[in-house]
Amino acid sequence: MTTPRVGVLALQGDVREHVRVLTDLGADVTKVRRPEELAGVDGLVLPGGESSVIDKLSRAFGMREPLRAAITAGMPVYGTCAGLILLADRITDGIEGQQTFGGLDVTVRRNAFGSQVDSFEVDLDIPALGEPAVHAVFIRAPLVEQAGAGVERLAALDDGRVVAVRQGSLLGTSFHPEMTGEHRFHALLLDMVRERAR
Ligand code: GLN
Repeated sequence: MTTPRVGVLALQGDVREHVRVLTDLGADVTKVRRPEELAGVDGLVLPGGESSVIDKLSRAFGMREPLRAAITAGMPVYGTCAGLILLADRITDGIEGQQTFGGLDVTVRRNAFGSQVDSFEVDLDIPALGEPAVHAVFIRAPLVEQAGAGVERLAALDDGRVVAVRQGSLLGTSFHPEMTGEHRFHALLLDMVRERAR
């Protein structure tokens, strides 16, 4: 395959950081705000930010249904933090009326670490990525509280709480690799895009 064409959903959130990582990895990157832009990419990142805002804006911009259709069609998508929330089939502690795009057979709790713990950092061993450990930054982060049988648990905290998952072409992390120079999750997304093009 030629250079993978990937988008970053650019309605709200840390879009620039994801664009930088994907560009570093050699992808052809587009900021996606409109259905036509989504139609031009073969993979997508849902950034960190505020999931309820991204949800509302996606509806206002006519992006909700195109995004759901792309996910259903098997487009590789990687969600970080708010992006993970948006990929979850079920959420707890959403705001009134909050919706997700869905696709991942998981229940995700928003702001799962409470208002006392705004953010923290921890090193995570992630067998699917190998050495070295991932330095993970959590910011008002969600947790995967429940996952269906088809969901692979990629990473957990010491107490067993799940913070990274994969199911088919969907990947989600509670934390923000795009903020720490960690490129391996985005590389995994690009691998999935190339694989699908074969
Ligand atoms: N708490 C945010 C939300 O509910 C997620 C925070 C983040 O993406 N860093 O969407």
